[in-house]
Amino acid sequence: MKTEFLLVGQGLCGTWLSYFLEQEKREFIILDPGNLPNASRQAGGLINPVTGRRLVTTWRIDELLPFAHTQYTRLSQLLFTEQEKPRHKLIEERNILQFFAHPDTRVAFEKRVRERSDYLHLPTEPLAETALFNSPQGHGLIQKSCQVRPDLLLSSYKKHLLQQGRLLEKKFEYPQLNATASTHRYEDISFDYLIFCDGIGAHTNTLFDHLPVAPVKGEALILHIPDLPSSYVYKGPLTLIPLDQEGHWWAGSSYEWNFNDSNPSVAYRESTTDTLQQWLSLPFTIVDHWAAIRPGSKERRPFVGMLEQWPTIGFLGGMGTKGCSLAPYFANQLVQHLLHNTPLDPEADLRRFKRN
Ligand SMILES: Cc1cc2nc3c(=O)[nH]c(=O)nc-3n(C[C@H](O)[C@H](O)[C@H](O)COP(=O)(O)OP(=O)(O)OC[C@H]3O[C@@H](n4cnc5c(N)ncnc54)[C@H](O)[C@@H]3O)c2cc1C
Repeated sequence: MKTEFLLVGQGLCGTWLSYFLEQEKREFIILDPGNLPNASRQAGGLINPVTGRRLVTTWRIDELLPFAHTQYTRLSQLLFTEQEKPRHKLIEERNILQFFAHPDTRVAFEKRVRERSDYLHLPTEPLAETALFNSPQGHGLIQKSCQVRPDLLLSSYKKHLLQQGRLLEKKFEYPQLNATASTHRYEDISFDYLIFCDGIGAHTNTLFDHLPVAPVKGEALILHIPDLPSSYVYKGPLTLIPLDQEGHWWAGSSYEWNFNDSNPSVAYRESTTDTLQQWLSLPFTIVDHWAAIRPGSKERRPFVGMLEQWPTIGFLGGMGTKGCSLAPYFANQLVQHLLHNTPLDPEADLRRFKRN
């Protein structure tokens, strides 16, 4: 079998990379057995334009946000016919109701509203939802934030790939790779380019061991809160994001640099339950508990591009906490770079790190 691009992994990175290759009418095959760790399926799916105590706009957000909106919408049009439209869109604008933790946060918000009134708003009218939370320091609104449905995206795109015969549900095994200057083969597949989109898989890949990867564990509880209106994403000591199933909410997440395994922990379940009991005035039940490891980078910038020593072997990853907005943008950038020789963003190009 011969293909132009062999991709490893169908998380957000592999999905978007194959989508842009498909748009360019290129030949590709993607390998993913479907039973390996996958951060994308555990993600809350939030694209939040401002973060942190100082409410700074996130890296490149003014370009990333409109790009994500356009591309998730186009991908929906490819995946769903009018008759088969899912209950929710792949991307929807959803304001974040941000509760202030401290009087200083309110002061910071008031200052930033004057600078970024497109993203931040201090409501003058009362919001009924605020009465459902114990949050005496007040609240503000983060506008233009988006909710993406990563699970819906991955499962519908997987179906699409299978229909086209482009997904092989098997694991990439390094010993089967035969790559020399003149040969590019994996088992019986010969390829022009091999691109890893294997999330934390790449963290143990010797081809990329010069990259400053930073795995960060994240846990979230899945809750049933029947009386909480899904008008907003609620952000306080936790983030509450409405899920597809009526009355179900994603409550997360932790950010752990030191961990022994990728399993849900009793400690997270207990501390999150305590936090919820103090913050939320409504009854809730826990229906599930998720955990995964985010494939991140120490500099909090992605890894995009082809290896200097092996220009036919590349990587798209290191998306950290922002895979929903970074993956489409940088997948497209990588495809344009390979097919039309356009430059990669120097802050994301993996060649910024040299192998000794
Ligand atoms: C709890 C939590 C909450 C998060 N919330 C958000 C959020 O709200 N917004 C946001 O933007 N981001 C969020 N993220 C981050 C986001 O999930 C990641 O940035 C993104 O999913 C990374 O995508 P990826 O494709 O690089 O990796 P993954 O999604 O991990 O995909 C890797 C794929 O590679 C496959 N694979 C691995 N090894 C092999 C192999 N040898 N052969 C074949 N296939 C292989 C796996 O099966 C998997 O499908 C969150 C993450 C976590 C854990």
